[in-house]
Amino acid sequence: MATAIKKPLTTAQFKKKVLQHLNFTSSQDDLAQNPTAVLKAVCLTVNEVVYEKLTETNKYHKEHKSRSINYLSLEYLMGRMLSNNLHNLDLFDVAQKAVASLGFEIEDIFEEGHDLALGNGGLGRLAACFLDSLATMDFNAVGYGIHYEHGLFKQQFHQGRQIETPDEWREYGNPWEVCRPEAVQYIPLFGHVESIANNDGSVKKVWHSGQTIKGVPWDVPIVGYNSKTVNVLRLWESRASSHFDWDQFNSGAYQDAHSAQNHAETISKVLYPNDETDAGKELRFIQQYFFCACSIKDIIKRYQEQFGDDWSQFSKQVVIQLNDTHPTIAILELMRTLIDEYDFAWNDAFAMCREIFAYTNHTLLPEALEKWSVALFDRVLPRHLEILFSINEFFLNEEVAKLWPNDHQMRGRLSIIEEGPEKMVRMAHLCVVTSFKVNGVAQIHSDLVKSDLFPEFNQLYPNKLTNVTNGVTPRRWLKACNPELSKLLDSKVKTDWAKNLSSLSTVAKFADDEKFQQEFMSIKHNNKVKLAEEILASTGVVVSPDAIFDVQIKRLHEYKRQHLSFLHILALYRRLLADPDYDMHPRVYIFGAKAAPGYYLAKEIIYAINKVADKINNDDRINGKLKVVFMPNYRVTLAEKIIPAADVSEQISTAGKEASGTGNMKLALNGAVTIGTLDGANVEIAEEVGDDNIFIFGNTVDDIKALAANGYNPYDYYNNDEEIKACLDWLHTDYFTPGKPGELSAIAHSLLDGGDPYRLLADFADYAKANTALDQAYKDKTRWARMAIINTAKMGKFTSDRSIQDYVDNIWKLTPMNSKN
Ligand SMILES: *Cc1c(COP(=O)(O)O)cnc(C)c1O
Repeated sequence: MATAIKKPLTTAQFKKKVLQHLNFTSSQDDLAQNPTAVLKAVCLTVNEVVYEKLTETNKYHKEHKSRSINYLSLEYLMGRMLSNNLHNLDLFDVAQKAVASLGFEIEDIFEEGHDLALGNGGLGRLAACFLDSLATMDFNAVGYGIHYEHGLFKQQFHQGRQIETPDEWREYGNPWEVCRPEAVQYIPLFGHVESIANNDGSVKKVWHSGQTIKGVPWDVPIVGYNSKTVNVLRLWESRASSHFDWDQFNSGAYQDAHSAQNHAETISKVLYPNDETDAGKELRFIQQYFFCACSIKDIIKRYQEQFGDDWSQFSKQVVIQLNDTHPTIAILELMRTLIDEYDFAWNDAFAMCREIFAYTNHTLLPEALEKWSVALFDRVLPRHLEILFSINEFFLNEEVAKLWPNDHQMRGRLSIIEEGPEKMVRMAHLCVVTSFKVNGVAQIHSDLVKSDLFPEFNQLYPNKLTNVTNGVTPRRWLKACNPELSKLLDSKVKTDWAKNLSSLSTVAKFADDEKFQQEFMSIKHNNKVKLAEEILASTGVVVSPDAIFDVQIKRLHEYKRQHLSFLHILALYRRLLADPDYDMHPRVYIFGAKAAPGYYLAKEIIYAINKVADKINNDDRINGKLKVVFMPNYRVTLAEKIIPAADVSEQISTAGKEASGTGNMKLALNGAVTIGTLDGANVEIAEEVGDDNIFIFGNTVDDIKALAANGYNPYDYYNNDEEIKACLDWLHTDYFTPGKPGELSAIAHSLLDGGDPYRLLADFADYAKANTALDQAYKDKTRWARMAIINTAKMGKFTSDRSIQDYVDNIWKLTPMNSKN
């Protein structure tokens, strides 16, 4: 649709509605003192527009019987909603003026909002960006997930150590969700399976469950940008199926009456804060089944409202995308439903599933590949386990045995069941066997999925494995978070770049234009001034906006190698102590990262960075040339403040370990220059911006493999590089932890006796060299401005709209609303 959507409200209308809502929601006379009440009233005003569009969207898709994409994800990292919804509805200016006339700055109102942090990191944020693009591109899409009572924990530092406290995102309600009691579902668990012989000799299976959980849906509207669509994110909350036993309560057994309720409500209580590792807990398994079962029932309900009991159109109407293996049980639940509840023949049910499910792989890390014990399956989902065995039998006998007859090793390797002291279910194998497409999330990652992770599956199913490179929504990650830069881009790009990001490439022709360079870099400077204020407020550290703002923001993980940057900071500090005139442009290192609460070394790395920061930031000898800040509680809202102010984007994972990364895209889009390895989407970013506009260093995937083949020994680097040796030895002293020598030793141990599993020492020298080159480049203002501009101009490929179009063309086969065909 070329024409812009009409503004839904004028400023006067908007203000009038806000005042009406204020009368309902706030009993205070002095409204001017209550920004929280204003936020709520503004949200309710926006919702009036949103829900009208939602109704229209639903009506359209019902009438047109549109095929739907159903995105199943255990995580959605949405962030705040108001600013984005205002931008997407073209109501930002209207709301700003209306709120100003009530005596408020719109930014202060935004600050009252709470992040929806129902996810850990990249995987959950990807789901959020995809929902934004699906609505913007007018596709019929539903996101399904869990309505966690507590999202990702809040992070504070106490004497440098991470402290976790619960996230209370809906303590006093959340304006962006609405309960849908009419769509409640009931989910069985536990129990046993009975076999009943039919008259024709066949056997009917009946699952007698031991417990039933109620699934209550909460809908969060997803507003498209300059589009007709409002879709929903449907999040399931678990409740006891009968609220509690009233008789028991009245007879005085309060505890018992409450315990069943407590147990049921535990299921959606908390998000597992593990990122990239398998949580491996029974409760998490039940979480997965609970939300999959609710979602499958809901998908069938929506279908039956249109098609009744005619199943012939089901696979034409429905496609289901599994965001990683977390929702894999949805496959077994659909099989079970078709066979046990709708009397499908096994072959027909399986054929149907193979037309409906597609799976996205997000990691090659062995510790992150999900496995559940057969015993756990048997206890919680006995009927699903039977179906799983039947799929495995079919797969091994009809498919594996055809290609590799009598090859027992191959059977063992590919089987969905892993033999051993404890039999385990390999969830990824079930996904690959049943899905019609399996995609990786960046080209290099998808290539490795084919060559290293699933080479046999690739032989067996030649066209199944494919790539869809990740993307980010330019609405949140440029338009809303960087208004000044957005305005500058508006002035140079004639089309709506936020909906057609490739059009930004036209600003490349201004990369050498002196005036444009000045405008671009002065916006960067303004953003840095703002961030410096935020840094002062949250850490007490004074930083200069004239320094290089060097940013590493992402989950704390060894493979992401925050400790490589840390080691390099130690080296720079040492050089400065040895020679106060050491030639470097002042640099501020800005970290943001949460560590999984049980991840020991990740927490030690946070502690070490904080301790070293304390020392460096207060050392007058180095003339403020080096500063280090670790901003607490990294989350979407903090990312939105840091990214517009970044000069340098650190993307320094061990080659082959970061599937894609999306932080890399957000930062480059906002004019940060990447220093990074040839890993994940960095490879494609380098292709887009060109070698002159990125600092690539370090071992490649092939180099890393060769290191292992030749017998990697970290001591070779320690003994042969005086700087590495000095920095690692430093960690054993009490230089950074007075009176407590050895407090930072864990990192050194892991890099030496621990074998340096992520090959930091092998990359250190080249990383240091790339940093020197970067420092030289920054000192040349014209050159740096050119690099920054090219980065913004060449990020068109990395809009999540392009990712969604790839999914639509190659996997989902959808047509948007109002399309001619
Ligand atoms: C984008 C984003 C991520 C992912 O960052 P990577 O650098 O790709 O790991 C994680 N957390 C938040 C809050 C984000 O916005």
